[in-house]
Amino acid sequence: MDIFSHALWGGAALGRKKRNEFLLAIGFSLMPDFLGEGIMFLLVILGLPGMPGLEHGHPDITEFPAYAQGFYNATHSLVLFSLVFALVWLLKKKPFLPLAAWGLHILIDIPTHSFRLFPTPFLWPLSGFKVNGIGWESPLALALNWTLLAAVYSLWFYRQRKARGK
Ligand SMILES: [Zn+2]
Repeated sequence: MDIFSHALWGGAALGRKKRNEFLLAIGFSLMPDFLGEGIMFLLVILGLPGMPGLEHGHPDITEFPAYAQGFYNATHSLVLFSLVFALVWLLKKKPFLPLAAWGLHILIDIPTHSFRLFPTPFLWPLSGFKVNGIGWESPLALALNWTLLAAVYSLWFYRQRKARGK
């Protein structure tokens, strides 16, 4: 999924109560792509040896060296997310809900990434199984995604206005 949609879904799902929780949920929604794809493309721009070129458009994930793929694997793993979420829960003695936006990001990516563009390694490092999703860049997925986002935010703002009016 694109980063704008990730941010909006994370904020709407896990940051509706307080303004700072909304911003945190957006931050955790963006984190996997900034620390995953973001770092990988930074390494490309820095010209590190073994990196794919960008002259043929978006490179496939298999064109990157294994250590660079590691950034995407780690940030898009439900296994790693669950461990971190449980650890934070243990330390804080209560669940830290904005962090769940990271997990939501992975769940949204699974059906919206095809084998053509960075399929989601959600079971890493336990398994290399990946789903050949529809691809968020397809017209059908784009239309569905933005229609649903518009509906969710309209409903949220409508309810807020109604609550304030009382
Ligand atoms: Zn992602």
